[in-house]
Amino acid sequence: MAWNIVIAGGGFGGFYAARTLERVLPHHSARVTLVSDVNFLLFTPLLPGAAAGTLDPRHVVVPLREELPRTDLWLGRVAGAEPARGELIVDSLDGRRHELRYDQLIVALGSISRTQPIPGLVEHAIGFKTLADAIALRNRAISMLEIAETIHDAETRAQYLTFVFVGAGYAGLEGIAELQDFMADVLDLYPRCKVQGMRWVLLEARERVMPEVAPSLAAFAERELRGRGIEIHTGAALHRVQDSSLSLEDGRTIPTRTVVWTAGVRAHPVLANLGLPLTDGGRVEVDRTMRAAGHANVWAIGDGAAVPDPARPGSSSPPTAQHAIRQGRRVARNVAAELGAGGRVRPFGYKTLGVFVDLGRHQAVASTVGIRWRGFPAWFLARTYHLANMPGTKRKLRLLLDWTVALLFSRDTAELGQLGHPPELE
Ligand SMILES: Cc1cc2nc3c(=O)[nH]c(=O)nc-3n(C[C@H](O)[C@H](O)[C@H](O)COP(=O)(O)OP(=O)(O)OC[C@H]3O[C@@H](n4cnc5c(N)ncnc54)[C@H](O)[C@@H]3O)c2cc1C
Repeated sequence: MAWNIVIAGGGFGGFYAARTLERVLPHHSARVTLVSDVNFLLFTPLLPGAAAGTLDPRHVVVPLREELPRTDLWLGRVAGAEPARGELIVDSLDGRRHELRYDQLIVALGSISRTQPIPGLVEHAIGFKTLADAIALRNRAISMLEIAETIHDAETRAQYLTFVFVGAGYAGLEGIAELQDFMADVLDLYPRCKVQGMRWVLLEARERVMPEVAPSLAAFAERELRGRGIEIHTGAALHRVQDSSLSLEDGRTIPTRTVVWTAGVRAHPVLANLGLPLTDGGRVEVDRTMRAAGHANVWAIGDGAAVPDPARPGSSSPPTAQHAIRQGRRVARNVAAELGAGGRVRPFGYKTLGVFVDLGRHQAVASTVGIRWRGFPAWFLARTYHLANMPGTKRKLRLLLDWTVALLFSRDTAELGQLGHPPELE
């Protein structure tokens, strides 16, 4: 009888777990089912490029069916689980409920944006975590220019021409750098806006930007962004967001109609319905082999699992794609070992090799195996690294083409927010 291995979540962790299982399991020894609410892997390090229009949105995703030929893809939303019965509860796209039986379950459901109870935040701010967020942000930014161009009063126009990012981790930094670069490129097409100029602001509640990288690299990134006219305020905690302004806890107010929330992530809330032990932060509690505490046949990886970090004893692995990928590969081998298909169950043993922060305009900061890079070499290294990690030759070529076209030609300003929302038939 073939074993049933079910993977919940088709992001970095789930994708690499499925891919490794396809390689290490003997043919027909197991049925591997990957449950995901979308049929692609979103390559998040390239999301700022999609938001800035340098990359076609289709080129920053990896279609799961194409890359996982021996895995059953089950499109649906995980709603819960019954570990005692070995069942994962999934709602398919048309609303039917299914119980998928498993002998081994790998949970890789990722994280969501971590919001805070700040008045007006949920109503007025945009996240920067999904492909929909990135495209909505680009469309919103262009709409702001279009509206501003029609406004006579300079003070009101300033609200539309001010863009604020809250949270200066790598998503916030890369996001504001790429989007500001894009908007500076297209501003010449908007005569009124050009005369008035734009305002770009990055707010960070902590005392420094990018705690993920060494202070000298963070300082370089900060200098680079300030040089482009981006204001950076550290120790600046958000107090309230309104339709046309935001206020900080120290009483300062910024008139703006675009607030982008990039202040961290938290474990996916559906994890609470899986009947598994969770840490205070809501991540699944696992041991060093990524096995869920008290559940011999359930494993958890990625942003949604508190996998002990081999590099920092006593801490959990940081929520990065690099960790999720390595955990996915290791957990697949552990599951195979558990089913008698070779090897031993081993602990997760990866240490961060490096960090890349792409700042657009051929600038980046990077830290790899103890060497610090900045400027053009770091940018080249970051691009090469992402290119090498993108699965499939066809997709690598598309990325190269997009980047080359962006180097040679100006960017597109079509605002396509109506895509996917056709008018109703009359
Ligand atoms: C803008 C941005 C830039 C980033 N840049 C980098 C970077 O440069 N380097 C780096 O190392 N990390 C980066 N990260 C972090 C990285 O994306 C995450 O750490 C990584 O994706 C975690 O992998 P995961 O498998 O745990 O979760 P994910 O990759 O998020 O995968 C979770 C999957 O589960 C699916 N899912 C969610 N809920 C359900 C449900 N109920 N039912 C079914 N499926 C569900 C999701 O659609 C998704 O496919 C970035 C993140 C962002 C947002």
